[in-house]
Amino acid sequence: MKENPVGVVGVGGLLLGDGVSWHTARTGFACDSVVDYELVLASGEIVHANATARSDLFRALKGGGSNFGIVTSFHLETFPATDLVVGRRSIGMEHIDAVIDAVAAFTDLDQAYHGNALLSAIQYRPDTEASMISVTEINTLNRANNTAFDAVNRNPTLAPATTESLTLAQSANSSALGVLYAGPVTIANDPRVMRYCAEQHESLVEDLKAALGTKAFSTILDFQPLASGANMLGLERPPHNRILFVAGAILTTPNSADRFPQVYQKVAAMVQRIEAFATSVGSHDEFVYPAYADAARDPLGSYGAVNVQHIRDVAKRYDPDGFFPA
Ligand SMILES: Cc1cc2nc3c(=O)[nH]c(=O)nc-3n(C[C@H](O)[C@H](O)[C@H](O)COP(=O)(O)OP(=O)(O)OC[C@H]3O[C@@H](n4cnc5c(N)ncnc54)[C@H](O)[C@@H]3O)c2cc1C
Repeated sequence: MKENPVGVVGVGGLLLGDGVSWHTARTGFACDSVVDYELVLASGEIVHANATARSDLFRALKGGGSNFGIVTSFHLETFPATDLVVGRRSIGMEHIDAVIDAVAAFTDLDQAYHGNALLSAIQYRPDTEASMISVTEINTLNRANNTAFDAVNRNPTLAPATTESLTLAQSANSSALGVLYAGPVTIANDPRVMRYCAEQHESLVEDLKAALGTKAFSTILDFQPLASGANMLGLERPPHNRILFVAGAILTTPNSADRFPQVYQKVAAMVQRIEAFATSVGSHDEFVYPAYADAARDPLGSYGAVNVQHIRDVAKRYDPDGFFPA
Protein backbone atom coordinates (compact mmCIF):
# COMPACT_ATOMS: atom_id res chain seq x y z
CA MET A 1 0.00 0.00 0.00
CA LYS A 2 1.28 3.47 -0.86
CA GLU A 3 0.11 6.41 1.22
CA ASN A 4 0.05 10.14 0.45
CA PRO A 5 2.20 11.88 -0.52
CA VAL A 6 3.76 9.88 -3.37
CA GLY A 7 4.69 12.74 -5.63
CA VAL A 8 8.43 12.42 -6.23
CA VAL A 9 9.95 9.93 -8.67
CA GLY A 10 13.71 9.26 -8.62
CA VAL A 11 15.78 8.03 -11.55
CA GLY A 12 17.16 4.95 -9.75
CA GLY A 13 13.86 3.25 -8.96
CA LEU A 14 12.34 4.16 -12.31
CA LEU A 15 15.20 2.67 -14.34
CA LEU A 16 15.51 -0.44 -12.15
CA GLY A 17 11.72 -0.89 -12.18
CA ASP A 18 11.61 -0.62 -16.01
CA GLY A 19 9.92 2.75 -16.56
CA VAL A 20 6.92 3.26 -18.82
CA SER A 21 6.44 6.66 -20.40
CA TRP A 22 4.73 8.41 -23.25
CA HIS A 23 7.67 7.21 -25.39
CA THR A 24 7.28 3.49 -24.64
CA ALA A 25 5.68 2.46 -27.94
CA ARG A 26 8.54 4.11 -29.85
CA THR A 27 11.58 3.56 -27.63
CA GLY A 28 10.56 0.77 -25.23
CA PHE A 29 10.75 0.83 -21.45
CA ALA A 30 13.16 3.34 -19.91
CA CYS A 31 15.44 0.44 -18.87
CA ASP A 32 15.69 -0.63 -22.52
CA SER A 33 17.66 2.58 -23.23
CA VAL A 34 20.34 1.84 -20.61
CA VAL A 35 23.60 0.88 -22.34
CA ASP A 36 25.86 0.73 -19.28
CA TYR A 37 25.38 0.40 -15.52
CA GLU A 38 28.12 1.25 -13.04
CA LEU A 39 27.41 -0.46 -9.75
CA VAL A 40 28.92 -1.26 -6.39
CA LEU A 41 28.65 -4.96 -5.62
CA ALA A 42 28.15 -6.37 -2.13
CA SER A 43 31.93 -7.04 -2.04
CA GLY A 44 32.59 -3.30 -2.46
CA GLU A 45 33.97 -3.82 -5.97
CA ILE A 46 32.92 -1.19 -8.54
CA VAL A 47 32.02 -2.81 -11.87
CA HIS A 48 30.38 -1.97 -15.18
CA ALA A 49 27.68 -4.08 -16.82
CA ASN A 50 26.93 -3.63 -20.50
CA ALA A 51 26.42 -5.66 -23.67
CA THR A 52 30.03 -6.87 -23.73
CA ALA A 53 31.17 -6.76 -20.08
CA ARG A 54 29.12 -8.82 -17.59
CA SER A 55 26.29 -9.15 -20.10
CA ASP A 56 24.50 -11.58 -17.74
CA LEU A 57 24.32 -8.86 -15.07
CA PHE A 58 23.42 -6.25 -17.71
CA ARG A 59 20.41 -8.32 -18.75
CA ALA A 60 19.37 -9.00 -15.16
CA LEU A 61 19.42 -5.29 -14.31
CA LYS A 62 16.84 -4.61 -17.03
CA GLY A 63 13.89 -5.45 -14.83
CA GLY A 64 15.57 -7.46 -12.07
CA GLY A 65 15.38 -4.56 -9.62
CA SER A 66 17.88 -3.62 -6.96
CA ASN A 67 18.98 -7.15 -6.10
CA PHE A 68 22.54 -7.08 -7.43
CA GLY A 69 24.23 -3.93 -6.14
CA ILE A 70 23.89 -0.17 -5.79
CA VAL A 71 23.88 1.46 -9.20
CA THR A 72 25.99 4.61 -9.12
CA SER A 73 25.72 5.56 -12.79
CA PHE A 74 23.33 4.83 -15.64
CA HIS A 75 24.43 5.56 -19.22
CA LEU A 76 21.49 5.84 -21.56
CA GLU A 77 21.08 5.89 -25.30
CA THR A 78 19.44 9.21 -26.02
CA PHE A 79 16.99 10.52 -28.57
CA PRO A 80 16.03 14.10 -29.46
CA ALA A 81 13.85 15.70 -26.77
CA THR A 82 11.01 16.80 -28.99
CA ASP A 83 8.19 18.73 -27.35
CA LEU A 84 4.99 16.81 -26.71
CA VAL A 85 1.57 17.64 -28.06
CA VAL A 86 -0.78 16.89 -25.17
CA GLY A 87 -4.52 16.70 -25.75
CA ARG A 88 -6.97 16.33 -22.91
CA ARG A 89 -10.67 15.61 -23.07
CA SER A 90 -13.34 14.59 -20.59
CA ILE A 91 -16.19 12.41 -21.77
CA GLY A 92 -19.43 11.34 -20.10
CA MET A 93 -19.78 7.78 -18.77
CA GLU A 94 -22.64 7.11 -21.21
CA HIS A 95 -19.91 6.82 -23.89
CA ILE A 96 -17.81 4.28 -21.99
CA ASP A 97 -18.48 1.42 -24.44
CA ALA A 98 -17.32 3.48 -27.43
CA VAL A 99 -14.23 4.74 -25.57
CA ILE A 100 -13.26 1.21 -24.51
CA ASP A 101 -13.57 -0.02 -28.10
CA ALA A 102 -11.39 2.90 -29.21
CA VAL A 103 -8.78 2.10 -26.54
CA ALA A 104 -8.70 -1.55 -27.64
CA ALA A 105 -8.30 -0.55 -31.31
CA PHE A 106 -5.52 1.93 -30.43
CA THR A 107 -3.72 -0.73 -28.39
CA ASP A 108 -3.76 -3.16 -31.29
CA LEU A 109 -2.19 -0.48 -33.47
CA ASP A 110 0.10 0.88 -30.75
CA GLN A 111 3.37 -0.15 -32.39
CA ALA A 112 2.28 1.31 -35.74
CA TYR A 113 1.31 4.61 -34.13
CA HIS A 114 4.93 5.10 -33.20
CA GLY A 115 4.85 8.63 -31.83
CA ASN A 116 1.54 8.37 -29.99
CA ALA A 117 0.43 7.39 -26.52
CA LEU A 118 -3.03 7.19 -25.01
CA LEU A 119 -3.93 7.18 -21.35
CA SER A 120 -7.60 6.76 -20.55
CA ALA A 121 -9.00 6.80 -17.06
CA ILE A 122 -12.33 6.52 -15.32
CA GLN A 123 -12.54 8.96 -12.44
CA TYR A 124 -15.04 9.83 -9.76
CA ARG A 125 -14.89 13.55 -8.96
CA PRO A 126 -16.15 14.96 -5.66
CA ASP A 127 -16.91 18.40 -7.19
CA THR A 128 -19.47 16.97 -9.64
CA GLU A 129 -20.28 13.92 -7.49
CA ALA A 130 -20.15 11.86 -10.67
CA SER A 131 -17.81 9.65 -12.66
CA MET A 132 -16.37 10.62 -16.01
CA ILE A 133 -13.83 9.41 -18.55
CA SER A 134 -10.63 11.40 -18.78
CA VAL A 135 -8.46 10.88 -21.87
CA THR A 136 -4.92 12.13 -22.43
CA GLU A 137 -3.66 11.94 -26.00
CA ILE A 138 0.05 12.45 -26.57
CA ASN A 139 2.16 12.81 -29.65
CA THR A 140 5.83 12.57 -28.72
CA LEU A 141 7.00 14.02 -32.04
CA ASN A 142 5.21 17.33 -31.47
CA ARG A 143 2.70 16.63 -34.24
CA ALA A 144 -0.83 17.90 -33.79
CA ASN A 145 -3.77 16.84 -35.96
CA ASN A 146 -2.81 13.21 -36.46
CA THR A 147 -5.54 10.61 -36.92
CA ALA A 148 -4.50 8.14 -34.21
CA PHE A 149 -7.14 9.32 -31.75
CA ASP A 150 -10.06 9.75 -34.15
CA ALA A 151 -12.13 6.94 -32.64
CA VAL A 152 -11.87 8.50 -29.17
CA ASN A 153 -12.42 12.01 -30.51
CA ARG A 154 -15.73 11.10 -32.14
CA ASN A 155 -17.28 11.06 -28.65
CA PRO A 156 -18.75 14.35 -27.41
CA THR A 157 -16.86 16.04 -24.58
CA LEU A 158 -18.19 17.40 -21.30
CA ALA A 159 -16.06 20.55 -21.67
CA PRO A 160 -14.04 21.86 -24.61
CA ALA A 161 -11.03 19.61 -25.34
CA THR A 162 -7.62 21.23 -24.83
CA THR A 163 -4.37 20.79 -26.76
CA GLU A 164 -1.01 22.23 -25.79
CA SER A 165 2.64 21.77 -26.65
CA LEU A 166 4.80 20.96 -23.62
CA THR A 167 8.45 20.25 -23.03
CA LEU A 168 9.15 16.87 -21.46
CA ALA A 169 10.10 18.65 -18.21
CA GLN A 170 6.80 20.54 -18.14
CA SER A 171 4.93 17.30 -18.71
CA ALA A 172 6.88 15.46 -16.00
CA ASN A 173 6.32 18.24 -13.49
CA SER A 174 2.58 17.92 -13.90
CA SER A 175 2.52 14.25 -12.89
CA ALA A 176 2.70 14.49 -9.09
CA LEU A 177 -0.11 12.51 -7.49
CA GLY A 178 -1.32 11.63 -4.05
CA VAL A 179 -2.98 8.33 -4.76
CA LEU A 180 -3.68 5.29 -2.65
CA TYR A 181 -3.58 2.52 -5.21
CA ALA A 182 -3.79 -1.25 -5.60
CA GLY A 183 -2.48 -3.47 -8.31
CA PRO A 184 -1.30 -3.25 -10.98
CA VAL A 185 -3.05 -5.85 -13.09
CA THR A 186 -2.10 -6.75 -16.63
CA ILE A 187 -4.77 -8.02 -18.97
CA ALA A 188 -4.90 -9.03 -22.58
CA ASN A 189 -6.31 -6.25 -24.74
CA ASP A 190 -9.88 -7.41 -24.13
CA PRO A 191 -12.80 -4.91 -24.12
CA ARG A 192 -14.89 -7.35 -22.04
CA VAL A 193 -12.48 -6.98 -19.13
CA MET A 194 -12.29 -3.19 -19.52
CA ARG A 195 -16.12 -3.04 -19.42
CA TYR A 196 -16.10 -5.17 -16.28
CA CYS A 197 -13.55 -2.72 -14.80
CA ALA A 198 -15.94 0.16 -15.53
CA GLU A 199 -18.84 -1.66 -13.84
CA GLN A 200 -16.72 -2.52 -10.83
CA HIS A 201 -15.55 1.07 -10.59
CA GLU A 202 -19.15 2.23 -10.24
CA SER A 203 -19.72 -0.34 -7.46
CA LEU A 204 -16.60 0.92 -5.70
CA VAL A 205 -17.82 4.52 -5.97
CA GLU A 206 -21.20 3.60 -4.43
CA ASP A 207 -19.42 1.73 -1.66
CA LEU A 208 -17.08 4.66 -0.93
CA LYS A 209 -19.95 7.16 -1.03
CA ALA A 210 -21.76 5.11 1.59
CA ALA A 211 -18.65 4.84 3.75
CA LEU A 212 -17.16 8.35 3.38
CA GLY A 213 -19.80 10.65 1.89
CA THR A 214 -19.83 12.02 -1.65
CA LYS A 215 -17.23 14.77 -1.18
CA ALA A 216 -14.46 12.97 0.66
CA PHE A 217 -12.74 11.05 -2.12
CA SER A 218 -11.92 10.80 -5.77
CA THR A 219 -10.92 7.70 -7.71
CA ILE A 220 -8.85 6.77 -10.71
CA LEU A 221 -8.87 3.58 -12.74
CA ASP A 222 -6.59 3.85 -15.74
CA PHE A 223 -5.83 1.80 -18.82
CA GLN A 224 -2.37 2.00 -20.39
CA PRO A 225 -1.44 0.10 -23.56
CA LEU A 226 1.72 -1.89 -22.81
CA ALA A 227 4.59 -2.51 -25.23
CA SER A 228 7.31 -5.14 -24.89
CA GLY A 229 11.11 -4.66 -25.04
CA ALA A 230 14.58 -6.26 -24.76
CA ASN A 231 14.56 -6.90 -21.03
CA MET A 232 13.76 -9.41 -18.29
CA LEU A 233 10.01 -8.89 -18.25
CA GLY A 234 9.06 -11.90 -20.34
CA LEU A 235 6.40 -10.01 -22.29
CA GLU A 236 7.02 -12.19 -25.32
CA ARG A 237 5.01 -14.93 -23.57
CA PRO A 238 2.30 -15.05 -24.82
CA PRO A 239 2.75 -12.54 -27.65
CA HIS A 240 -0.49 -10.60 -27.26
CA ASN A 241 -1.12 -6.89 -26.83
CA ARG A 242 -1.69 -5.90 -23.27
CA ILE A 243 -3.37 -3.31 -21.11
CA LEU A 244 -1.83 -2.33 -17.82
CA PHE A 245 -4.40 -1.13 -15.38
CA VAL A 246 -4.10 0.43 -11.96
CA ALA A 247 -6.91 1.44 -9.64
CA GLY A 248 -6.64 4.01 -6.91
CA ALA A 249 -8.47 6.35 -4.60
CA ILE A 250 -7.54 9.76 -3.29
CA LEU A 251 -8.86 10.94 0.05
CA THR A 252 -9.68 14.58 -0.40
CA THR A 253 -10.41 15.71 3.15
CA PRO A 254 -7.65 16.74 5.59
CA ASN A 255 -6.49 14.34 8.30
CA SER A 256 -7.99 11.31 6.62
CA ALA A 257 -4.98 9.02 7.04
CA ASP A 258 -6.86 6.81 9.53
CA ARG A 259 -9.21 5.88 6.70
CA PHE A 260 -6.43 4.61 4.37
CA PRO A 261 -6.67 0.94 5.47
CA GLN A 262 -10.46 0.83 5.00
CA VAL A 263 -10.28 2.46 1.56
CA TYR A 264 -7.30 0.42 0.45
CA GLN A 265 -9.15 -2.77 1.38
CA LYS A 266 -12.09 -1.76 -0.85
CA VAL A 267 -9.88 -0.84 -3.81
CA ALA A 268 -7.85 -4.05 -3.43
CA ALA A 269 -11.05 -6.15 -3.25
CA MET A 270 -12.24 -4.57 -6.50
CA VAL A 271 -8.89 -5.36 -8.14
CA GLN A 272 -9.24 -8.97 -6.98
CA ARG A 273 -12.72 -9.23 -8.52
CA ILE A 274 -11.37 -7.85 -11.80
CA GLU A 275 -8.51 -10.35 -11.79
CA ALA A 276 -10.97 -13.19 -11.15
CA PHE A 277 -13.17 -12.04 -14.04
CA ALA A 278 -10.17 -11.63 -16.39
CA THR A 279 -9.03 -15.13 -15.46
CA SER A 280 -12.52 -16.57 -16.07
CA VAL A 281 -12.56 -15.23 -19.65
CA GLY A 282 -8.94 -16.22 -20.36
CA SER A 283 -7.64 -12.64 -20.49
CA HIS A 284 -5.60 -12.36 -17.31
CA ASP A 285 -1.88 -11.91 -17.86
CA GLU A 286 0.52 -12.97 -15.14
CA PHE A 287 2.86 -9.99 -15.68
CA VAL A 288 3.04 -7.58 -12.73
CA TYR A 289 4.60 -4.24 -13.66
CA PRO A 290 7.30 -3.72 -10.99
CA ALA A 291 7.35 0.08 -10.75
CA TYR A 292 3.62 0.12 -9.91
CA ALA A 293 3.47 -3.02 -7.78
CA ASP A 294 2.01 -2.79 -4.29
CA ALA A 295 3.45 -4.82 -1.43
CA ALA A 296 1.09 -7.75 -2.00
CA ARG A 297 2.47 -8.42 -5.51
CA ASP A 298 5.41 -10.48 -6.71
CA PRO A 299 6.64 -8.72 -9.87
CA LEU A 300 9.89 -10.68 -10.29
CA GLY A 301 7.98 -13.97 -9.98
CA SER A 302 5.77 -12.91 -12.87
CA TYR A 303 8.60 -12.78 -15.45
CA GLY A 304 8.44 -16.52 -16.23
CA ALA A 305 10.54 -19.44 -14.97
CA VAL A 306 13.51 -18.88 -17.32
CA ASN A 307 13.90 -15.21 -16.41
CA VAL A 308 13.41 -15.87 -12.69
CA GLN A 309 16.17 -18.48 -12.84
CA HIS A 310 18.44 -15.99 -14.65
CA ILE A 311 17.88 -13.43 -11.88
CA ARG A 312 18.65 -16.06 -9.21
CA ASP A 313 21.80 -17.24 -11.03
CA VAL A 314 23.09 -13.69 -11.50
CA ALA A 315 22.35 -12.76 -7.87
CA LYS A 316 24.28 -15.84 -6.72
CA ARG A 317 27.23 -15.07 -9.03
CA TYR A 318 27.61 -11.39 -8.05
CA ASP A 319 26.32 -11.54 -4.49
CA PRO A 320 27.18 -15.07 -3.29
CA ASP A 321 26.52 -14.26 0.39
CA GLY A 322 23.05 -12.86 -0.33
CA PHE A 323 23.76 -9.36 1.00
CA PHE A 324 20.99 -7.99 -1.25
CA PRO A 325 17.70 -9.86 -0.72
CA ALA A 326 16.97 -11.36 -4.17
C1 LIG B 1 3.75 10.51 -8.97
C2 LIG B 1 4.31 9.25 -9.55
C3 LIG B 1 4.28 9.08 -10.93
C4 LIG B 1 4.83 7.91 -11.48
N1 LIG B 1 4.82 7.76 -12.83
C5 LIG B 1 5.42 6.69 -13.37
C6 LIG B 1 5.49 6.54 -14.78
O1 LIG B 1 5.01 7.38 -15.54
N2 LIG B 1 6.10 5.44 -15.27
C7 LIG B 1 6.65 4.48 -14.46
O2 LIG B 1 7.20 3.52 -14.97
N3 LIG B 1 6.59 4.58 -13.12
C8 LIG B 1 5.99 5.65 -12.57
N4 LIG B 1 5.93 5.76 -11.21
C9 LIG B 1 6.49 4.67 -10.38
C10 LIG B 1 7.99 4.91 -10.15
O3 LIG B 1 8.71 4.52 -11.29
C11 LIG B 1 8.47 4.06 -8.95
O4 LIG B 1 7.80 4.50 -7.79
C12 LIG B 1 9.98 4.13 -8.78
O5 LIG B 1 10.38 3.12 -7.90
C13 LIG B 1 10.43 5.48 -8.25
O6 LIG B 1 11.82 5.52 -8.21
P1 LIG B 1 12.60 6.12 -6.89
O7 LIG B 1 14.08 6.05 -7.17
O8 LIG B 1 12.02 7.45 -6.55
O9 LIG B 1 12.10 5.07 -5.84
P2 LIG B 1 12.73 4.55 -4.49
O10 LIG B 1 11.55 4.20 -3.63
O11 LIG B 1 13.79 5.47 -3.96
O12 LIG B 1 13.44 3.21 -5.01
C14 LIG B 1 12.70 2.12 -5.45
C15 LIG B 1 13.56 0.88 -5.24
O13 LIG B 1 14.72 0.95 -6.05
C16 LIG B 1 15.88 0.89 -5.25
N5 LIG B 1 16.86 1.81 -5.83
C17 LIG B 1 16.67 3.13 -6.14
N6 LIG B 1 17.79 3.64 -6.68
C18 LIG B 1 18.72 2.65 -6.71
C19 LIG B 1 20.06 2.55 -7.15
N7 LIG B 1 20.72 3.60 -7.65
N8 LIG B 1 20.70 1.36 -7.03
C20 LIG B 1 20.06 0.28 -6.50
N9 LIG B 1 18.79 0.31 -6.06
C21 LIG B 1 18.12 1.47 -6.15
C22 LIG B 1 15.46 1.29 -3.84
O14 LIG B 1 16.29 0.70 -2.84
C23 LIG B 1 14.05 0.72 -3.80
O15 LIG B 1 14.07 -0.66 -3.50
C24 LIG B 1 5.38 6.90 -10.64
C25 LIG B 1 5.39 7.09 -9.24
C26 LIG B 1 4.85 8.25 -8.72
C27 LIG B 1 4.91 8.43 -7.24
